[in-house]
Amino acid sequence: MRAVEKPPLIWLNVLLFLITFVLAAVITPWYGFQHGYALEHWVWLVVAFSFCNLSITAGYHRLWSHKTYQAHPVLRVIFALGGAFALQNSALHWSSDHRVHHKHVDNNDKDPYSAKRGFWFSHIGWMLRNYNQDTYNDYGNCRDLQKDWVVMWQHKHYLLLAIVTNIGIPLLLGIVYQDIIGMLLIVGALRLVLSHHTTFFINSLAHIWGKQPYTDKNTARDNGVLAFFTFGEGYHNFHHIFENDYRNGIYWWQYDPTKWLIKSFHYLGLAEKLRITPQIKIEQAKAKQAFKQAIERLDARPDNKDVKDALNKEFEQLMKKLNDYFELKKQIVEQKRHNLVEKYERSLLLIRYRQLKSEFKAQQRQWNAMLTCC
Ligand SMILES: [Zn+2]
Ligand SMILES: [Zn+2]
Repeated sequence: MRAVEKPPLIWLNVLLFLITFVLAAVITPWYGFQHGYALEHWVWLVVAFSFCNLSITAGYHRLWSHKTYQAHPVLRVIFALGGAFALQNSALHWSSDHRVHHKHVDNNDKDPYSAKRGFWFSHIGWMLRNYNQDTYNDYGNCRDLQKDWVVMWQHKHYLLLAIVTNIGIPLLLGIVYQDIIGMLLIVGALRLVLSHHTTFFINSLAHIWGKQPYTDKNTARDNGVLAFFTFGEGYHNFHHIFENDYRNGIYWWQYDPTKWLIKSFHYLGLAEKLRITPQIKIEQAKAKQAFKQAIERLDARPDNKDVKDALNKEFEQLMKKLNDYFELKKQIVEQKRHNLVEKYERSLLLIRYRQLKSEFKAQQRQWNAMLTCC
């Protein structure tokens, strides 16, 4: 029987990944041993790396692919330049692929970088062969982006922008600091390889390694270590269930610099209409998932009926208290917004609100304690 034929290799990509990798992993250290690198090399590496990756996370991903906020044209141009510097195709192409990834996640026939096809494929393999030759230039799922002149300008001049930023920026730094080869290696090759692979980890590792606190309907995981290297994108389990949220790490202690950056732009008047998921939906998803995982653990044990019944009861209580608390919270916000209630009535509502809140928190503590036992 003949093996299924693989699509042809995209030699441009193969050579690009290979050459930059050799430059970064072999030539850059060798040159360093011969000539040494100074502080400015490392400072500019961090600056350029951050510029590239944040343009992808805050620009390509959260702004254009998911429309989680709106950005001023100046910001959009900066992201377009940073995205070309990151050498990850145009924002239009990237977003189109990414929207398909979300829509058909883990579907080996449709998801362009399906994690179910293995680490190598989802990390880099999907770019080495012409897997989507029929739909490569189909941007039908990005009609909204085609109305954004920055997106279309970048798409049209992508190659030129990519060459000018990737060669021009390190070259300019090399002239300023009088080490052209050193800067081309560090800010050119090493920065590009680091930027590429840390971004690629979101398609590969973030679908393999980590926890699933919100859903297990897809392979996406939450992983704090990955979040550290990916400017906050490691909270991928949350992201796949609530993709319209401008945050990926929703708690203050979760490392999500992309979220902090977008929020800072908001304070500066450069970003608006930041979208967040209603808290009730997040809590419901988390509770349902924890319940499901606990039942699965219990199913593996004998004589589990009593524990299961107790867990069921606690879960029902939790959902009820959760709904009561958040419903009243919503009601109060609405009434406040429209100035609907008198002072007296409002204070009564607030008393009720505090009561429901403490009941919900107590139930949540009880629920968490129960989860640790089963
Ligand atoms: Zn996404
Ligand atoms: Zn994903």
